[in-house]
Amino acid sequence: MEHKTIDLSGLSVRQLRGRRRRLASSLTGIEALLRGTLMTQGRRCGKERCRCAHGQLHGPYVYLSVTRPGRRPRMVYVPAELTETVTAHVAASARVEAVVAEITAINTELLVRRALD
Ligand SMILES: [Zn+2]
Repeated sequence: MEHKTIDLSGLSVRQLRGRRRRLASSLTGIEALLRGTLMTQGRRCGKERCRCAHGQLHGPYVYLSVTRPGRRPRMVYVPAELTETVTAHVAASARVEAVVAEITAINTELLVRRALD
């Protein structure tokens, strides 16, 4: 679903409710969600005589950086055969979060107008 930010204050209550209904019904595939940021990193193996000890790192390897409240992000290794799946999940997660944010914005606008149901 193509997603654009629009000025909600320009919509009628009826239009806001219609938009909210369409947004809510677009929330499918909720099982395929994965929040995080994909990144690539080189790694040191820890062996003293290895080339990586002198800066020639192994990899690059793909990781999913997952933020956690009050803690350092968790870096989860993504095997090559799962990179495509993880990429799709991360993109789907971003879309769902955008839809949830807009539904919340619509409900806030409805509250402002005393039209929250
Ligand atoms: Zn090494």
